[in-house]
Order: sequence, then C-alpha cells, then structure tokens
Amino acid sequence: MCRSAFVNRYLLELEVLDYGRSPLELEAIALSLGHYPHAKLNVPRRVVSYSPRPRAKCEECGFTVPMLKAFMHYGPPICPKDRVEMVAVGDWGE
Ligand SMILES: [Zn+2]
Repeated sequence: MCRSAFVNRYLLELEVLDYGRSPLELEAIALSLGHYPHAKLNVPRRVVSYSPRPRAKCEECGFTVPMLKAFMHYGPPICPKDRVEMVAVGDWGE
C-alpha cells in the first residue's frame, strides 16, 4: 500500500470514528491498518518557558504580583495596602 493510500485509509477510518467506540475496536482498526510506511512521526512539543516572570513587589509589605506583558508599559502598580508604587522585579524588557 503506497503512503497516500495509507493516509487516505486512516482519514476514512477517522471520519467514521465515533466517540462511542471501545478501545478494543480502536485497536482492531489500528491492527487492520498495519505499520505506518514512513519514519516515526515527531510531534513537536509545546515549548514551556521557565524564565522567571516579571513581577512587581511592594518594598513596605512584600506584596508581590506577576505582571502581564500587555500591561507592563503602565509601570509597576500601586500596593493595595500601603498605597505606594511597587518596585519592578525581574526582566521588564528595559
Ligand atoms: Zn505594600
């Protein structure tokens, strides 16, 4: 079976696939299709960034909030308790 025929068969099976099918039925379908005639598929992983997020911290009480990039141009917020401007912590891009 050529690759395009194989892919078409898979797509056909997916079209008739319904959520009510049992794992055994799905396995039977997979077995009937045989091996995928190509190299192993590499599904790109979601890249997760672990860099510390920019934050704002109150020097009076230590209250800390993570900042959203969309609002960083406003500058650090005012502490809700002490009513003083908080300090930018981390990478604010400047
Ligand atoms: Zn404070």
